[in-house]
Parts: sequence; structure tokens; C-alpha cells
Amino acid sequence: MAKRASGLADNSSIHESSLPIVLLSPRGTARVKSGHPWVYRSDISPAENLSPGALVRVLDPRGKFLGTALYSSSSQIAIRMIARDQITDLASLVSDRIRAALAYRQQFVADTNAYRLVFSEADFLPGLIIDRYNDVLSLQILTQAMDAEPIRGAIIQTLIAALKEEINLAGIVERVDPRIRDLEQLPPRQSALLWGKKSETIITMNAEAKGLSEKREPKAEKREPNSQSREPRAESRAVRFHCHALEGQKTGAFLDQRENYAAATRYAHGRALDVFCYQGGFALHLAPHCASVTAVDSSRPALEMADQNAALNRELLNGKEIEWIEANAFDLLRDYAAAGHKYDTIVLDPPAFAKTKRDLHKALSGYKELNLRALKMLASGGILVTCSCSFHVSPADFLGVVADAARDAHKSLRLLENRGAAKDHPNVLTIPEAAYLKCLILVAP
Ligand code: SAH
Repeated sequence: MAKRASGLADNSSIHESSLPIVLLSPRGTARVKSGHPWVYRSDISPAENLSPGALVRVLDPRGKFLGTALYSSSSQIAIRMIARDQITDLASLVSDRIRAALAYRQQFVADTNAYRLVFSEADFLPGLIIDRYNDVLSLQILTQAMDAEPIRGAIIQTLIAALKEEINLAGIVERVDPRIRDLEQLPPRQSALLWGKKSETIITMNAEAKGLSEKREPKAEKREPNSQSREPRAESRAVRFHCHALEGQKTGAFLDQRENYAAATRYAHGRALDVFCYQGGFALHLAPHCASVTAVDSSRPALEMADQNAALNRELLNGKEIEWIEANAFDLLRDYAAAGHKYDTIVLDPPAFAKTKRDLHKALSGYKELNLRALKMLASGGILVTCSCSFHVSPADFLGVVADAARDAHKSLRLLENRGAAKDHPNVLTIPEAAYLKCLILVAP
């Protein structure tokens, strides 16, 4: 049961001199100096009178100032750095950072109206995630500091001021993960609409995902820089998804795979198999490029939504049916391999196998097994798109495990693309966890 958090920092009344001090151990100091924002509880001096979510001044063992951080009274990650300098007004810092995150997306995200607008530490806003789904924003608050009322207020106000007209904002919802609130010792809350009226919408992505048909398609018009044309164009080629921002196992769709969907279409051909298809992200992108698509998931609600998404893309699919199969992927791959099925394009996008470091070994054998089974069914010249979203599995580990599977399958796979999450999930070099998503595109000889 969550303990009630009392006395969350009211940051509006914080003055520099009144900021409490947290002293780091040499190991904690080294970590901060390496550019990682997290310091574990074992690396800070006992901070007894700190209120949950407090803004703190961080000092090295000699008392040298290292920066400003957010304190958590319950997480093993006791402090999360937010600035190298002195910060006294967290609300205005959060507001500035949200605007900076928006500017980054305006610069680097194109051809979609669905993307991650703020990604926690990767946007220097630890504990805050904001996704844009067309005219609906979805907010997740994961830390005590971000949950404080003045900060919540600043977040909502900034979003409304920046986006109300810009995207015809019609709703802001909050998605609550009760497990995280419990871990952070925050009072329980329900997922709910925080502003506006809308929590369901339709999103569009990858208007330019032309793939091999590119040569035959007329070139899209050249875009004016800074024009509003970052919204999806070439509507008939874009892929659409229903988005229910208050339902679904993630916030509606897998935004981090968006660029990988488009990349996969560059090579996809023939008979395709999308394993762990969820609501059809890869399958719907592949369909226009493949002779047939079979898609597998163990979740019936996900498949029902996938089928509705297929209906939404009728024009794009041009009469093509996707076969949605409810099954355990491991069993299905074994049975299909035994039955001698062959595919020209196979996508593997399983859930995170390693939720903690301790699971790493088991996770690696899971990935190996899965890739091996898929490789047995990959036709000559076939394409394997294989993913891992476990952040405990490093990009090198993952490459190694797929190489092992290739060896066992007697296939000399060639790596066409070594990819990560879409650019709206910034990959900060000094934060290894930011490289959590791996997506390899390989071709079999
Ligand atoms: N490729 C999807 C995301 C996949 S998320 C996309 O781009 O949108 C992982 C999916 O694996 C979830 O939909 C979950 O229901 C499914 N899943 C988990 N365990 C499974 C199993 N053993 N067999 C089949 N599907 C499984």
C-alpha cells in the first residue's frame, strides 16, 4: 500500500540559500561527472530532513558544487540531476525545458502527428513523459518532484500555451501506472482527462514510407523549411491508427518504432510474418509492400484494435487482408517451422524480456531462441527485422545474441541497418539507458 506522501516540495517558495544540500560519495561524484543524471541512495550522505521531491544542491565529498537535483525519498535513485548550475525556480525550469523539447521535435520529427514530446531524462526532465497523439496529449508523471502541484500546474499551462492553437489541442490525459506511484510513495490517482474533452483520436505516421515502390511513386513536393508542413502529407500513403489515450498497454501506440516501421518498408517483400504485432504497427506498414502479411500476438484486445486499424487503412491496403492470429509466439514459431513454412520478411518485436539486470541471462536465451526459430523460416534473400526493448540488454549484447542464432541456423546474415528508437526518443550519449531500443534489419543470403 502506498504511504501517503506529505509535504511535497512547494517549489514556488524556494530560495537559493534555502535549498537543502546533498553530499555525494566519490562514486556518486564520478557518476555525475560522467554525465549520468542518476545517483543511487548508497552514494549520497544520509539526508534525513529532505522532503519528498525536494530540489537540492549537490556537492562532492570536498564540498564543491556539482549542480542541482531532484530528490526522491523512496526510489533507489535518490537524486536525479537537472542542472549543472543553481536552480531555484523548478516550475519555470520545467516550463523552459518543455519548450526546448518542443523545439527539438519541430526540428527533427517529420511526417507524423504522433510522437514523444518529452522523454524524461533524455529531455532533462526526469520523471516526465508527454506524448502527442494528433490533438490529444498524454502525460505520465513518474517522480515525486514532477508530481508536486505547482509543477503539475506549470506543465499543463505550458502545454496549453504552446500547443492549443498549434495542434488544435482538444485534450490532455494523464496515464497513471499505480505500481510506479506506489514505488514513489505517491498518493493513488486514476488515469483521467486533465484538460479539454477528448481522449480518443486518430494518428497518422510515415506519409513518406514508400519503400521499394519509391521509384514508381512521384516525388513528394519539396517542403518549405519552418512551414507548418511537418504534419503528415501524402495522406493516402500514410498509415493511420486509432488511439485511445486512456486505454492500451502503452499509451496507445509504439511511437519509438515509428522510424523503424518506415525503414522496414524499404526491404519488405513477399510473404511477411509480424511476430508480437500488438495493434499492427509493423504489419500495417508492411502490407502495401508484401504479397501477404500474417501477424501474431497473444493479446486479443490488441488484435481487435489491429483489425480496426486495418479497416482505417483500407485505401492503403488496397484490398489486401492481414491475417491476425492470436497465439503464443514461441509455440507458433515452433509449429510453423516444423510445418516447413517459409517467409521472405519476418519481424520480431517482443516485449522486454529483461525487466531487471538479474533477468539478463534468461533474456538473452529468450532472444536467441526466438531469432533462431525465425531464421529457420527465413527464405533465401529474406529480411529479418529483429528488435529488443530491454534496456538491460546492450546494443552489443543484442548483436551478439542474433549472431549466435545466425550461427546455429547456419546463416551468414548481413546487417543492413543497425537502428534504435525514433528521434523523438532522444538517445543521450552519456545515458546508456537511452539506447534501450535496438532494431536490426538483416538479410539472409
Ligand atoms: N510490434 C508492436 C509492439 C509489440 S509490444 C508495435 O510495433 O506496435 C509486445 C507485444 O507482445 C504485446 O502486444 C504483447 O501482447 C505481445 N506478447 C507478449 N508475450 C507474447 C507471447 N508469448 N506471444 C505472443 N505475443 C506476446
